[in-house]
Amino acid sequence: MARLVMKFGGTSVAGTERIRNAAARVKREVEAGNEVAVVVSAMAGETNRLVGFCREIAPLHDAREYDTVVASGEQVTTGLMALALHQIDVSARSWLGWQIPVRTDGTHGSARIEAIETAEIERRFGEGQVAVVAGFQGLGPDGRVTTLGRGGSDTSAVALAAALRADRCDIYTDVEGIFTADPRIVTRARKLAKITYEEMLELASLGARVLQTRSVEMAMNHRVRLQVLSSLSDAPGTLVIDEDEIMEKRVVSGITYAPDEAKITLHAVADRPGVAAVIFGSLSQANINVDMIVQSAAPDGSTTDITFTVGRTELERALKVLEGKKSDIGYSRLSPDPNVVKVSVVGVGMRSHAGVAQTMFQALAAKNINIQAISTSEIKVSVLIGADYTELAVRALHSAFGLDAA
Ligand code: ADP
Ligand code: ASP
Ligand code: MG
Repeated sequence: MARLVMKFGGTSVAGTERIRNAAARVKREVEAGNEVAVVVSAMAGETNRLVGFCREIAPLHDAREYDTVVASGEQVTTGLMALALHQIDVSARSWLGWQIPVRTDGTHGSARIEAIETAEIERRFGEGQVAVVAGFQGLGPDGRVTTLGRGGSDTSAVALAAALRADRCDIYTDVEGIFTADPRIVTRARKLAKITYEEMLELASLGARVLQTRSVEMAMNHRVRLQVLSSLSDAPGTLVIDEDEIMEKRVVSGITYAPDEAKITLHAVADRPGVAAVIFGSLSQANINVDMIVQSAAPDGSTTDITFTVGRTELERALKVLEGKKSDIGYSRLSPDPNVVKVSVVGVGMRSHAGVAQTMFQALAAKNINIQAISTSEIKVSVLIGADYTELAVRALHSAFGLDAA
């Protein structure tokens, strides 16, 4: 007997037929003698629809009311899943975030889970009852409903698995596992049997939306055994595990891209000590994160151009901050470019293999793709390129690192 958390994403509960299919999977696990908690997302497209309503009524909405609206998608699927289980004679009850409760901090719209009280759910496991838990939502310190940020039901599932000390957390989605690249972009992407927490964390934070970044972070910290698999087939999925459990380390495990950054260039900035401190200090004071930075000196050495990236949703705010500091910084011109994408290659084998960056730059050059900025860490190399070249670049890199399926 094992204790399992089974999470079903939007496409896996996108209508009553899909919910029945998911319920049948739950029944299989229950009949195998396991204790099961199910976490569900809203039906595919539903959260977008609800977010759209908020924006229509109030572009600058109160985050507490936004949470009240967008958390409702999961309330529907939780109840429907419990009903579907009853129909096939599985004992189950639905749980909303506030009923358990799933306690979070007060950051409405992107709250963090702080604690989950599982005593009652565990007591009911003893009676053979399945807990059907609404993903994405919790209870804030203000006594109001919170949500965990887009894609947050992955984090609900992992947090519940950690709190229940579950043997495994299975994330059922619309692809058969974690691939070497988004299989919707690279048809020759290969499914990975295993991937390390560190690699998955980089892939998620660099754009692969298959798991919310925070869910991977939490699985890594609490050593939750995580599996990603399809709710529509019985193919084996991908296990996310510790590095020591993987014998053969690939140099590059995956390629990903993130379209959520924007580039800003400050032209002809005086080349003297303290300038960068003023630029990046004023952005950080305004709570704007900067990711990639490139500085290029003018031939006469008197001025430099400074290029960097910020989140695309922060672009307008960043420009305002920099315009306000124009006299302190002393640049000639400010040019924004939202039309960029960050493409990254990730792999733990990079720690012991040189030449990954070079292979990457050569593959992009061969396709005539210009690199606008570069950043690296121990297990990844990222480049900023024009958004129009995204698919070409991802495919070229996938081939260059020998990842294409035969
Ligand atoms: P769910 O609704 O089940 O949470 P998501 O849409 O959030 O599903 O995540 C699954 C999607 O992630 C897939 O349909 C796929 O297009 C995308 N994806 C991006 N990168 C990868 C990758 N490396 N491996 C698998 N899927 C990926
Ligand atoms: N329904 C929420 C969203 O679309 C949470 C999730 O699907 O994980 O972001
Ligand atoms: Mg998701």
